[in-house]
Amino acid sequence: MRTIGLIGGMSWESSAEYYRLLNEETRARLGGHHCAPSLLFTVDFAEIEAMQSAGAWDAAGDRLAQAAVTLEKAGADVVVLCTNTMHLVADRITAAIDVPFLHIVDATAERITVAGHRTVGLLATRYTMEHPFYRDRMRGHGIEVIVPDEPERTLVHDVIYQELTRNRIEPASRVAYQKVMAGLAERGAQALILGCTEITLLVDESDSPVPVFDSTRIHVEAAVDLALADPPTPADGSVARA
Ligand code: GLU
Repeated sequence: MRTIGLIGGMSWESSAEYYRLLNEETRARLGGHHCAPSLLFTVDFAEIEAMQSAGAWDAAGDRLAQAAVTLEKAGADVVVLCTNTMHLVADRITAAIDVPFLHIVDATAERITVAGHRTVGLLATRYTMEHPFYRDRMRGHGIEVIVPDEPERTLVHDVIYQELTRNRIEPASRVAYQKVMAGLAERGAQALILGCTEITLLVDESDSPVPVFDSTRIHVEAAVDLALADPPTPADGSVARA
């Protein structure tokens, strides 16, 4: 099995989920005492969050590219960025490394396509919901993304930054998210993407009137697919699955 390099810390709460799921998934597939060979590079989310608020995306991209290079030098055969939002700077990361980068949008889109959905609602940070990088890449897979209107976008974003990335799970926020999810389904979403890697800590399919695609779990499962693939995929840029 190839070694998976994780760029984490955005936030550590979701990185811990990645780590747990990665090892559980590997154990489920290989049995016995198997777990996933991996390396985790944790950045300080306070620094990244400050760059996000300042719109300093290039600087943040350089920081994450450095982390990816460190992981590659340490032996990572594939790099996984444990946040949807920072895929905004995925190009800077892929330009810095020679090993495959597993893009979270490609992995998520592949699952949605297999399930036959064409219009999906997105719950994510404001950056992911409003910058074009996520929507455009999904469109490249033939999937239309709709996002909540204001003030729901602010609510979804604030719950992520004020609660979920601070290790706080509030039942009132779960109820608020359920309303946003119902609203997206009423507007035509055939399914919903939990497009922020902490949202899975708050809600799941039982909170939604339509199927839910959890980007954290999907990204992990795709990483295990790739790590177990034989022969290795050539380092030709981002890949969704082996
Ligand atoms: N983990 C989150 C995401 O998937 C948000 C934190 C961040 O800004 O990276 O978008």
